[in-house]
Amino acid sequence: MSPATEEALETINMRLGEPGLPTPSSAIAAATRAMTAGLTRYTPAAGLPELRTAVAEKFRSQGINATSERTIVGSGAKSLLFTLLLGDELAGREVVIPAPYYAAYPALVRHAGGTPRIVPTRPGDGYKLLPADLRAALGARTRWVVLNTPGNPTGATYSPDELKALAAELADYPDVLVLSDEIYEQFRYGMPACSTAALDDELARRTVTLDGVSKSYSMTGWRIGYATGPQPVIDHAIAAQFAISTCPPSVSQAAALAALTMPQDAIRARNAAFVDRRDLAIGILRRSPALDVVSPEGAFYLFPRIAADLDESHVVRMLADQARVLVAAGSAFGAPGHFRVSFALDRSALTEACRRIVATLDEIATEGTA
Ligand code: PLP
Repeated sequence: MSPATEEALETINMRLGEPGLPTPSSAIAAATRAMTAGLTRYTPAAGLPELRTAVAEKFRSQGINATSERTIVGSGAKSLLFTLLLGDELAGREVVIPAPYYAAYPALVRHAGGTPRIVPTRPGDGYKLLPADLRAALGARTRWVVLNTPGNPTGATYSPDELKALAAELADYPDVLVLSDEIYEQFRYGMPACSTAALDDELARRTVTLDGVSKSYSMTGWRIGYATGPQPVIDHAIAAQFAISTCPPSVSQAAALAALTMPQDAIRARNAAFVDRRDLAIGILRRSPALDVVSPEGAFYLFPRIAADLDESHVVRMLADQARVLVAAGSAFGAPGHFRVSFALDRSALTEACRRIVATLDEIATEGTA
């Protein structure tokens, strides 16, 4: 690429973890109504009762045995996860985190006083945790096992049988809890919906399910997450939340309630467009011999593996400086030698960005052999 061409290129950001769609108008209208009606004060620490009822109803529709008393609404799923961990008093305990992982997990665990126990997974296994690897990681100090399905950054989505096989490994560890982060549950392509806590009574007893409106309803800025799980864990999290922030934001809760209770058909229908974008991006990226691209079954990211002879940080920098395409380095997700791109872009930007990635990798490879 000549310097002149470089200058003309507009930067395309594939780094973002958002679906790139507007917030539903009914959520915005509900927020406006709430403000005008004076819903501008503290709410109960665990969230508005009517929102907790709607959240419990939503979880029940996924087969989870939830009640409003066993739900908590927090200021985004990320901070709610932290609140759950803080409430659980993690000092001296370990949290099993399969890698690649959502970049925030290890830091949240450390800030809550626990120790992350990172367990690598393999591309050949679709980046899913295998029972034998879980077995090897479990021990007397283990308190939580994090399962993110569908997962960020790989889109890995566990089947009921895979989850049950993992659960079987927990039989000797009755007080180990499972954190099932299902924030991408609406973004599933082919795999039937499957919530960990819905699989059997034993998993229901020990699983905390985490979700929120950020991804499903394109409401990342409203900061509303929710969770359900064993009553003591939820009660401790409510106490921690009260100590930290009193309650989640009132107006955002009204907007989240509207999103959860509006007709959901449009949300599900949108997945056809995501499958189209996924396949478009994969079709282009697989033209590069330097990339190995697994097709994800959920979420809206691709996590290509870079050929072993290329350096991840060099590739990420070249893509930013030369191709003007911003991607997230795999190291941030505990998986060096990869990068993450979001395919939640419009078709033309996605096509252009993927072509530039392929062209730049060709150039890097040529440089290497020159
Ligand atoms: N969990 C996963 C797996 C995520 O990818 C994200 C955001 O990227 C979150 C949780 C946090 O969501 P929220 O915006 O509700 O804090």
